[in-house]
This record gives sequence, structure tokens and C-alpha cells, in this order.
Amino acid sequence: MSAPGSGPAGVRISGGGADPAAPADPAGVSSPRLADLPLRDDLRGQSPYGAPQIDVPVRLNTNENPHAPSPGLVDALGKAATLAATGVNRYPDRDVEDLRADLAAYLRPDAGFALTPAWVWAANGSNEVLQQICQAFGGPGRIAVGFEPSYSMHHLIAQATATGWHRLERGADFSVDPIEAAEQIRRLRPAIVFLASPNNPTGTAMPLDVIAAVCDAVTETGAGVVVVDEAYAEFRRRGVPSALTLLPRYGRLLVTRTMSKAFTLAGARVGYLAAHPAVVDALQLVRLPYHLSVFTQAVARTALAHAGELLGTVEAVKGQRDRLVAELTELGCAVAPSDANFVFFGRFADQAEVWRRLLEHGVLIRDVGIGGYLRVTAGLPGETDAFLAALRTVLAEAPQLWAPGGPAGAEGNTTTSVAER
Ligand code: PMP
Repeated sequence: MSAPGSGPAGVRISGGGADPAAPADPAGVSSPRLADLPLRDDLRGQSPYGAPQIDVPVRLNTNENPHAPSPGLVDALGKAATLAATGVNRYPDRDVEDLRADLAAYLRPDAGFALTPAWVWAANGSNEVLQQICQAFGGPGRIAVGFEPSYSMHHLIAQATATGWHRLERGADFSVDPIEAAEQIRRLRPAIVFLASPNNPTGTAMPLDVIAAVCDAVTETGAGVVVVDEAYAEFRRRGVPSALTLLPRYGRLLVTRTMSKAFTLAGARVGYLAAHPAVVDALQLVRLPYHLSVFTQAVARTALAHAGELLGTVEAVKGQRDRLVAELTELGCAVAPSDANFVFFGRFADQAEVWRRLLEHGVLIRDVGIGGYLRVTAGLPGETDAFLAALRTVLAEAPQLWAPGGPAGAEGNTTTSVAER
């Protein structure tokens, strides 16, 4: 697996830095190279996180919602921003009270208990919430653990906050064994345990009994907190519960969510957390004052007021997701069961080459650097058509790109799950 953040086409901070022939800046001082700067030792040689940003007709690489807001909602968002602008000479509400109240109301049905605004916190994307968690509970001398493959920002944010990282492995079917996980936690006594459900990049949801086993082990050690990253929660299949339902039982459980995916607000940067009020108090110790702008707060509240319309797109996305799972399986791929808006599939002898050839067909998906597998975001129906057609062509032209054993069909299998391969 490649280093965190460095996908096959990931951006790399070059150690050499600026072009040596670059002109001196206006003050006559030559531009320093990155390698010359007094960067923290532990950041030297690191790569920034990021999917390649390539302008192609079909972009299915960053798990966004493909549905743009309706003209009516665009108008409402604009009006909310205009209204917010009338008071922009003043700092925003530092405690984000109105938005937290709206978020609490939104979460209550999933939580199944009387979750109040004191249980909710919001920031600029769930990445900022995760960073605040690491700032408050991690830091030098402490470790965070994650069950990989998982969302690489967990590792990177831990690293950026000088929190140690310990990688734990998922099984061949990307599941986490509750007994083994509890044992590791008792042994390592981590300050933060990251669980993602549904997990990125695999799309797999984690059963509540596994989350509960991890919470029990963390409670027993008394050393840490458990973060369940539910960025893709709204795309869960029917009957898959949210970790929010466990909050009343576990004082050290933190559930993070985002408005970037189901709510189609990736560009607005709004993420949030639900946890016991003492956890929210802890995060207030590390948040910057006035971190969430008046515009962000206004736009988020307007989107929540239109939740019905926005979440309406979720069913369409889930339809495309289920279609991807079915058609990729039919094609002979190993496909992880998905409760998210993307699908993880393989297995290829050289997934980077499959990725590159798809790009030649104008289709950009994601190679997260996990041998044999690729991830595709569920897009609009036409985008799914284009992706599947391109993949069929690529694999017909270059059957050697299948992992040894070839497509499942060639072995006479009709249904192939990741676990079987
Ligand atoms: N968690 C997971 C699992 C994600 O995949 C992402 C985005 N790719 C995030 C958190 C961060 O989302 P945002 O900062 O946009 O809320």
C-alpha cells in the first residue's frame, strides 16, 4: 500500500521545492525551497492528501453527490447568504447555537432518543471535527488506531496533530473482528479509536455489536474515546442502524457526520458531531473562536430546512450504487457490499493500469493504492452507463488486467463477494 495521501497519481510535495530558476520575490530575497524551511521533522517528506483533480467528462472519484441543488434551493441559499451579509461586520455566533439546534432535530429520528443541541457540535467539514477530536484527545505521547483500509485522513490528521498512529488490519472481507479488536485495544490503550461506518473506501457498514465491543474495551481501559465516522450514513441500506443509537450507553462514543455527501453541500464545508455534552465541552477548548462563518451557518441551516428535497436525491444515488454492485458482480468482479455512495471492486492484476485506461475513456475513478481494487462513486445514470461501458471495453481489450483466475464468470461463479476471493 502506498504512503497515506499518496495515491498513484497523488500530489507529492517535492523535497526540492521551487524551481531553482524561479525569480526572486519583489523584496529581492530568493524564494526558499520547501526542504530549506524549518518544517517539523515529522512532516518532512509527507504528501498532502488529495484525489487527482482532472477535468474529464465523467468524474466518479470523490464521493460527492452528483445532484446539484435545485434552482429553488440555489435561490434560497443565495438569499440566506445575502441576509447573513447584512451582519457580516460582526463575528458569527461562536457557539453555533441555532445550527446545532437544527442538526439535533435532524439527527433525533436516527438516534432514537431526545438528543439536544448540547450533544451536537459543528465545524468546517467533518475533517475539521476530526482534527478537533485529535487536538483535544490526541497529541504527543498518545496514539490513535484505525482498522485499515479506511479513510486515510484519520491517519493524516492524527499525524498532523502529533498523535501516534497504530494500524490495525481488517479481515479479507474488510470486516473487523470484535474479539480481536477488543484485545488489541486493551493491549494498546489508544487515546482515539477510529471506526468508519460505512467505511471508506470499502463501503462496508460495521455491525453495532462490533462498535459496542470496541466501546466496551475502551471503557475498560479508561484511556480513550471511540470515533465512529458516519460521513456516508444517509446512504445505508434499509435496516442498517446508526451508531447514534449507542450514544446513551457510551459516554466516550463520538459520532461524526457531514453535510458534504447526502446534503450535496461539499462546497460549503459543514461537518458535525454527536456525543455527550462533556465531549462537546472538550472540543470547545481547541476550536478557534468564530470558526464557522456567518455564511456557512446560514447556508447549512437553509439546507437543513430543505432536507426533504436534498435527501430525495439519496434514493436515486442508492439506486445507482445498487446497480453498480449488481453489474460489477455480473461482470465477474469481487464487490464489497456497499452502504455508501460508492463501490469498492476488484480484483485486478494491476489496478493502476485499469484506472489509467478508464481515464483514457474519459472516466475518472479512484485508486486508493490498495492492491487489486478500485473505488467508483455512484453518479448520475448516464455516468454509471459511461463507467460500466468503459470498464467492459478496457477488460475486453486487456483481459490480462484481471487478477490471476480471471473474472468470476470464467470460474463459473455467478455471485462473487470480496470474502470469497
Ligand atoms: N469521513 C470520511 C469517511 C470521508 O470519506 C470524508 C470525505 N471524503 C470525510 C470524513 C470528510 O468530509 P468533509 O470534511 O467534507 O465533511
